[in-house]
Amino acid sequence: MMTTATGAAPLEFARTLNPRPASDAERDAVLANPGFGIHFSDHMVAIDWTIDAGWHDARVQPYGPLQLDPGSAVLHYAQEVFEGLKAYRHADGSVWTFRPEMNARRLQRSARRLALPELPVEDFLASLKEIIAVDESWVPSDGDASLYLRPFMIANETFLGVRAAHTVAYFVIASPAGPYFSGGVTPVSIWLSTEFSRAGRGGTGAAKCGGNYAASLLPQEEAAANGCSQVLFLDAESGRHVDELGGMNVFFVMGDRLVTPATSGSILEGVTRDSVIQLARDRGLVVQERDFTLDEWRDGVESGRITEVFACGTAAVITPIAQVKGPDFAFGEADAPAGEVTMSLRQELTDIQYGRAEDRHGWLYRLDS
Ligand SMILES: *Cc1c(COP(=O)(O)O)cnc(C)c1O
Repeated sequence: MMTTATGAAPLEFARTLNPRPASDAERDAVLANPGFGIHFSDHMVAIDWTIDAGWHDARVQPYGPLQLDPGSAVLHYAQEVFEGLKAYRHADGSVWTFRPEMNARRLQRSARRLALPELPVEDFLASLKEIIAVDESWVPSDGDASLYLRPFMIANETFLGVRAAHTVAYFVIASPAGPYFSGGVTPVSIWLSTEFSRAGRGGTGAAKCGGNYAASLLPQEEAAANGCSQVLFLDAESGRHVDELGGMNVFFVMGDRLVTPATSGSILEGVTRDSVIQLARDRGLVVQERDFTLDEWRDGVESGRITEVFACGTAAVITPIAQVKGPDFAFGEADAPAGEVTMSLRQELTDIQYGRAEDRHGWLYRLDS
């Protein structure tokens, strides 16, 4: 038997097919206008874990509600982590995802921080292939649409005592996603939260966990009330350094230099961030990962040294930022057009993901074979 680095054999998945999958017409109607995170495919992956048996009972089953005891630990103490990646259909019909080993390892780091068990990388990869094996028809074929994959892990032990759960479950669900910018890529205004922080020193900022998002919802509402689509957070200690947005990393273009805040423990290490850094270096741009203050941002916009600002993450890929607003200030022009460096990096990255450009770094991973 083949063994993994941890010594455990790779999991075998049992399959129970959905007796009532969506009809072709129903699925086509969804894929014609998928939105984001609204519709789900016919199946889901589930793997159980217990402190005694480890990972076991890997399976594909019909998509549907979970049975959770009201005393499940996750409902009370938010012991949960998740991932987000996409399945892309190439012109020849094949289905691929992008750098999934990075998501697998990040899920392990997130799990470690939340005192959850680590799923072996190869079982994570197998779980993605399993969902595509049964729901391949849910991967859209029009350019810039995708099937968004959402792996997540929850503490589902029925126990209100405060300790790491002894019973855990991992799932993968899949949701078709249209192009993030349906009317063409438009620069956004972002809101600087001066009252709230996303992550503190020693906290969970580098983990992809639901709790971080729960804490970002109130500042997100404040952003929306001020006409902004996203929140920008500063570091919790000094309130001077730029960390990241609620769910995206941030980059500053200064001529032939690209600057992004260093991942210091309070910033989520984005796969898109890492890929942008590589593509920028390939073009001969100088990339600096370092502290970046709000003052440097303001001065840079005023002096013209900062030529473009953008945010990046799997869902929206790369989003140009036109303006940053706070309670008593704003800099940048709200109607500034998207920058050239921003848009060409976006084009190059999506061309690789959709198989329209050479995958010179070996980033693509085939899911349908
Ligand atoms: C997921 C996430 C990102 C982006 O990560 P990608 O791997 O590029 O999708 C950035 N910041 C936060 C807080 C996130 O949760």
